[in-house]
Amino acid sequence: MPEGDSIFRAAATLHRALAGKAVVRFESVFPALTRIHEDNPLTAQSVDRVAAQGKHLLMFFSGGLVLRTHMRMNGSWHIYRPNERWQRPHRDMRIIVATADFEAVGFNIPVAEFIRSQALRKHRDLSKLGPDVLGNTFDREEAIRRIRARASSTIADVLLNQRVLAGLGNVYKSEVLFMCRINPFTPVSAIDDARLACILDTAQKLLRANVTTGLAPMTTYAGLRRTTTRDDPSERLWVYGRARLPCRRCESPIEISKHGTDARLTYWCPQCQAS
Ligand SMILES: [Zn+2]
Repeated sequence: MPEGDSIFRAAATLHRALAGKAVVRFESVFPALTRIHEDNPLTAQSVDRVAAQGKHLLMFFSGGLVLRTHMRMNGSWHIYRPNERWQRPHRDMRIIVATADFEAVGFNIPVAEFIRSQALRKHRDLSKLGPDVLGNTFDREEAIRRIRARASSTIADVLLNQRVLAGLGNVYKSEVLFMCRINPFTPVSAIDDARLACILDTAQKLLRANVTTGLAPMTTYAGLRRTTTRDDPSERLWVYGRARLPCRRCESPIEISKHGTDARLTYWCPQCQAS
């Protein structure tokens, strides 16, 4: 699943390309979207702005509709110049929003719907999101309250729960816990305030550092992530994806395990993260 920083970056890139511009073409394979477009054509409207909320991407149109998309595991938005060759096959196309200058193409997006902007606050998924780690007004006290409310859950599970903390995904979960030297399977009740503060500070610092808003090809955004200070592409992460390789601090082999309802992979160093 994409992390909050890649959704944030995708939203910023789409915003720079599309905001303020008239929509010249809208296409979708989702019948529910097409029906609304036919009744209330987007081609008579412009894109007001594009924003991320947790891992949801919201595209606001001047007529009062908001296109909400969620990428889950495989979805992505790309931006192309008109007539530029797509980097994905046409059969993966789910949505196109085109202006005179750019074509935004959503590939393999599993969740998409139009919402009236007035109804956004009450939306069933958006209203349940925890404080957004990348939000301008990250509510730290509320984040701590929500984490503490799950005292018997493991910290690894809690950090992935978007109702606790919006924006953190599986890569940062492992990296943050390594950097704070916390074992992923520690119950929340056994983590003191100082260690919890380390988790929140580190998560915020990493996600913000990994947000850039250049108009680069969006297919590469996932590959740019870095949590170490090293430039070598093979040394950008501490533990994620490094099963059985030596820890960068102590050289113990990195361990890997599945956890939680979705069997998400967790990477950790048994030496550095003993408790
Ligand atoms: Zn280690």
